[in-house]
Amino acid sequence: MRTATHLPIDILGLTSGELIEAARRLLPSGAGVAGKLHARAHATGRLEPEAFGLSAASCRAWRDAFTVGLLGVRRTVEEPGEHGATVKAVMVTGDGSDIECVRVPVPVPAGRAPRATLCVSSQVGCRMGCVFCETGCMGLVRSLSAAEIVSQVVTARTTLGWDCRNVVFMGMGEPLDNLEELAQALWVLTDMRGLRFPAERLTVCTVGDAEGIRGLRELGMRRLNLSVSLNAAEDALRSRLMPVNRRTDLAALAAVLAAYPQRRTFVLGVNYCLLPGINDSRGDAHRVAVYCASLGRVYVNLIPYNPGTRPLCRAPAPDETERFLGWLREEGLEAGLRSARGGSIMAGCGQLGEPRGG
Ligand code: SF4
Repeated sequence: MRTATHLPIDILGLTSGELIEAARRLLPSGAGVAGKLHARAHATGRLEPEAFGLSAASCRAWRDAFTVGLLGVRRTVEEPGEHGATVKAVMVTGDGSDIECVRVPVPVPAGRAPRATLCVSSQVGCRMGCVFCETGCMGLVRSLSAAEIVSQVVTARTTLGWDCRNVVFMGMGEPLDNLEELAQALWVLTDMRGLRFPAERLTVCTVGDAEGIRGLRELGMRRLNLSVSLNAAEDALRSRLMPVNRRTDLAALAAVLAAYPQRRTFVLGVNYCLLPGINDSRGDAHRVAVYCASLGRVYVNLIPYNPGTRPLCRAPAPDETERFLGWLREEGLEAGLRSARGGSIMAGCGQLGEPRGG
């Protein structure tokens, strides 16, 4: 149970139970509406004690003790696509930090209502230093609070009118480098009296730090999805691309991933960003298959590299991507192409965050 002490407390960072407890502790009167007020705040992004027939003094007490930290929207940029537009929103936190989240349309059969996945940020910048990543160039500015993480979802729904069925923690930052706030955000998102996301619609995407993965497992959210960025299945190359590999090498990563599944139907997502001339040979595909064989059931998401402002290499041609995908399947892996949606608006994987300085 989170017991925040600095007033006003942002309701978007609290579960319904936590708000009820905090309201009882902090308010002289009017705490009885806390459950309803919590649901309304998460649905509308507004703090509206007046809606519950409270006295002026109780409403004032609510506003003194609590707030709802909706984010500002600095701008949105769209890229049209076959299944709808991919849209990047630059949102602004209370202290003026820009964070980015992206609405990615999900393919649905003809005649079905459009659906989207919201890719949210967990930090301003990132300290993981993956060399193919635009956000990594920024370094870490700061981690986001649980309220700021949840607020991206609430702001997307209320201010932008986006229908976000799934949430993936794959925006700016490494979610497991901010585990405590990530965990709280997960509890708030899955609160059945609040935003009511089933855990199976939430995916944490990590660079693969063993301690972080163990910590996530210890939360005991059995239906939560996990995906890991692999990008190379030999230590020398992976350490060059992703410095985290020097701390958690491939063997250590395999061990912690093999111990992760908490349900029989668990499928680990394995993300592989295809970098022409670097990790796209037939041998690379074979090594990925050999490595994945030790991880239980996996699904490989192949992601064509999106060159950012400081390209590591060129983008793969469509036939190169198809060829590598074919090799993965020949090796017996379940694999699919995650299209480079948003590449033209710097909203593709590894492209969030506008680098600062030289
Ligand atoms: S790929 Fe993810 S973990 Fe790596 S630097 Fe970029 S944001 Fe950080």
